[in-house]
Amino acid sequence: MTTDARLALEQVTKAFDGRTVLEDISLQLEPGELLTLLGPSGCGKTTALRIIAGFERPDSGRVMLGGREITAVPAHRRSMGVVFQAYSLFPHMTALTNVAYGLKIRRQAKPARLGRAGELLELMGLSEHAHKYPHQLSGGQQQRVALARALAVAPEVLLLDEPLSALDAQVRVQLREEIRRIQRETGTTTIMVTHDQEEALTIADRVAVMRDGLIQQLGAPAELYRQPANAFVSRFLGTVNLVPVTGDGTRIALFGQAVETVGQHDPKVPLRAHIRPEDIELSIDEAGPGMVSTVLLRGATTSIGVIWDDLVTPVRVDLPTREAGGIESGQRVRLGVRVPHVLVEPDPAATGSQKTHA
Ligand code: ATP
Repeated sequence: MTTDARLALEQVTKAFDGRTVLEDISLQLEPGELLTLLGPSGCGKTTALRIIAGFERPDSGRVMLGGREITAVPAHRRSMGVVFQAYSLFPHMTALTNVAYGLKIRRQAKPARLGRAGELLELMGLSEHAHKYPHQLSGGQQQRVALARALAVAPEVLLLDEPLSALDAQVRVQLREEIRRIQRETGTTTIMVTHDQEEALTIADRVAVMRDGLIQQLGAPAELYRQPANAFVSRFLGTVNLVPVTGDGTRIALFGQAVETVGQHDPKVPLRAHIRPEDIELSIDEAGPGMVSTVLLRGATTSIGVIWDDLVTPVRVDLPTREAGGIESGQRVRLGVRVPHVLVEPDPAATGSQKTHA
């Protein structure tokens, strides 16, 4: 079932009613790769997916598969399996006949198609539900059937549009692991749209972060999380403290420590530093300039709120819970920076009243 599908978008642009929704999007997937398209609502993720699926034509640019241009090839001839957010199963068919449906369309003989559908349901752990109708299945089970149905025709490319977003948290996590496993086992090149950063990071080989029709950054999950290309990616990929600072062009003073910035910055402009809670070190010190305001046990990590200088919002520091034992509200602390480089951006609040800093 492994394919050599190299899927690419080349400079794809799309507008609706004169409004640009995708602007010069280019990306390329290696065969068997899983890429997530991550971004806030309305950034163009679904439109990009629909263009790949063939439900929508780009205004300019090309869709390529295995070195061949398929921009004008109709959806049903693209060898792509699609799963949407809402369970799109046929309500009057059993799980088994739903999965076999695509093969029926392709005129495969009944015993062969039911055999194949049975195999896929087994792969999904749904064998005992094969003869149930969609309304007799849970949401998670229905999405598994939808996934099996998409895979039944051995598509070169699997397209998943928020397939987990209608499910509750536990089922979501479970099914996302299953999607990953099955995607690997079948070697199917896959694009999954999501607006959930944790989902995007945990499931993908690479993530494309989108905003307003543009790809902001495309890379491996760890690369995006550790080295965000800009302030948007930094904030979108996880919790980050935004701390007003001043700098000299290449360095800032952060928690009383000199730290290099990522790239150069304008020393005349008020800045704010982006620093993740786990990248801050904390030490208890009676003469320390900070004060613990909250200690929040989350499980494996503990989040500690620290009042620092005249920052309006306490700085959040995340420590492994086993290292956070003696820390209590009211304690004086010192903070430090654990990373060699810190991302900064012009501080939009510097002239307002939101978060000022002397
Ligand atoms: P969401 O997560 O909310 O689905 P998205 O990132 O997938 O968002 P798209 O669905 O691609 O975003 O939509 C991008 C923009 O294009 C939105 O402003 C949407 O209203 C608009 N849009 C999408 N399809 C059409 C259409 N057929 N006609 C007009 N406007 C459209």
